[in-house]
Amino acid sequence: MGKRMNWLGALLFPPICRACGVRMTIFAPVLPQVLCPDCATQWRASAEEMCRTCGEVMPKCLCAPDALRESGCERLVKLTHYRAGAHGVPERLVLRCKDVNDRALFSHLAAELMLPTFRALQASGVGLEDVIVTYAPRRASVVRTVGHDQAKQLACALARGLDVPLVRALRRVRDGAQQKELSADERRHHAAESYAVRLSNAWQGKTVVLVDDICTTGASLAACTRLLTESGATSVIAVCVAVTKAS
Ligand SMILES: [Zn+2]
Ligand SMILES: [Zn+2]
Repeated sequence: MGKRMNWLGALLFPPICRACGVRMTIFAPVLPQVLCPDCATQWRASAEEMCRTCGEVMPKCLCAPDALRESGCERLVKLTHYRAGAHGVPERLVLRCKDVNDRALFSHLAAELMLPTFRALQASGVGLEDVIVTYAPRRASVVRTVGHDQAKQLACALARGLDVPLVRALRRVRDGAQQKELSADERRHHAAESYAVRLSNAWQGKTVVLVDDICTTGASLAACTRLLTESGATSVIAVCVAVTKAS
């Protein structure tokens, strides 16, 4: 029944490629899908890029930027690079996550993040029973305007996939400038004052999988890591779709 409905749905509403917008035919090899064959090839190629530090391809690299490591978070899971100003498949998917509450896209990205996240947990010697998932929340004014929080949607999908609890551990405490308008130093100060923990003990003694869509300097994830560990988390593993790379 479910299969039939999917097939009918695809016939009536052909899915569009989330990167280039081309309408995909129901004869495309794999359903459900979010990328046309060309964009899927580009996406896979972007994930094949190697980390210069560890020599691994992006989904296997766990390197974290200095700002993040200094906060105590040693491992950052990512799928690809994001080049500011570029218009490749990774950049388009990250932008779409911000603009559109596209469940299929969030599920797709979360599914790709599952294995790398699992590997990072294994590398830390952590079992899933000791894990909760949370996210670095977006500014409230933006959520009101856009209608969703991409980090939350990703975190939801990842928590579902890993079958571990999703906890709303953090909140935004001020609604000032956008991070992208700030210098690295300003980002650090701004990020430290932008988040607060909610009242809960849901992450006491747990390893927290901290989700965001993108990691630029690591300032936001670092600020969140400090709050989580200061309030009882054993450790934090950061997970994002893409890390920013200078173009
Ligand atoms: Zn496409
Ligand atoms: Zn690496």
